[in-house]
Amino acid sequence: MSKGIRRFESSRFRQEEFDNIPSGIFFYASCLQKVGDTYYNKHRMFDFHNHYTNWIQAGSDFSGLINAMDMVGVEKVAICGLPTIPLDGHYAIDTKTDSNLLGQYEKLSDDYKRRIFPFVCGINPENPMAVRYVKNLLSIYPSSIFGIGEVLCRHDTMSMKIFGKEIPPNTPTMLELSDLATEYGLPILLHSNVAKSGDVEPVYLAEIEELLAHNRETKIVWAHCGISKDINNIPLSLLLDTLEQMFLKYKNLYVDLSWRVFDYYIENNEEEWSQLIEKYPERFLLGTDHTGKWEEYSATVHRYDILNDLLSERSRNMVKNENAEMIIPNSVKV
Ligand SMILES: [Zn+2]
Ligand SMILES: [Zn+2]
Repeated sequence: MSKGIRRFESSRFRQEEFDNIPSGIFFYASCLQKVGDTYYNKHRMFDFHNHYTNWIQAGSDFSGLINAMDMVGVEKVAICGLPTIPLDGHYAIDTKTDSNLLGQYEKLSDDYKRRIFPFVCGINPENPMAVRYVKNLLSIYPSSIFGIGEVLCRHDTMSMKIFGKEIPPNTPTMLELSDLATEYGLPILLHSNVAKSGDVEPVYLAEIEELLAHNRETKIVWAHCGISKDINNIPLSLLLDTLEQMFLKYKNLYVDLSWRVFDYYIENNEEEWSQLIEKYPERFLLGTDHTGKWEEYSATVHRYDILNDLLSERSRNMVKNENAEMIIPNSVKV
């Protein structure tokens, strides 16, 4: 069974896919292959948020990832490590996650490289040396870095384990990093919670705004729309409203729909999200946010089917693929 047919069978029925099918049972088998492949190619996805390792640097397997992507029609992936190792009951920043990822990436064939876009993430967002660190990596791996992040700023309990506190996204280091990103044409994937646990208002919005306003050329992708493991008390209508206000104010703001924002806010509310996406289709990205394990990859991709099916074809293509290609301009040149 081809991948195309498998993808076709697992997707929901869409009348437009059948428009060109001749009637008659004898044509059915040959048409199914053709329609399946058409569906597969037309709806290919760019996974904009994924991790090559987990928090203890285990995982890291490009061939397993590519197999998982092929099984479910994901053509390209933006991927970073995770910047931590366990140390004395907490975590320490481990920059080796970047050199490990980039070293493995540079050994790949061109066919694989065309589909994989490494980001660098070994960053303490309040350490002034972080900017020099990224600059140094850019000089060592000039053709292999396509973005900065996922930078971990306010990340509830993980921040406490790594830094002993949450770090806001508007530190001098982050502002400098924003300038560096634009100098090199790189997007920043930012994890910074919109509020703290229990808050019903987006109390940290001003900090994100300062980063966005600092350099309006820098494309900031706000991971999970600012939602995280312990952040789920903000009403849905307020979250959607907040995103809309932010889109209106900041043309350089993008959001990904990965991880907890799906669990807490999107699932069963797809209709509300599709309405906002149709108004601002150029601002949304899909991501799987796996951490070095690919067994559940297909299920994670398919959980967006209901949302994707509600979108117009134009918006669906933008969210699944074209926005990522625009944000990582080099992705079409590799
Ligand atoms: Zn995150
Ligand atoms: Zn992540």
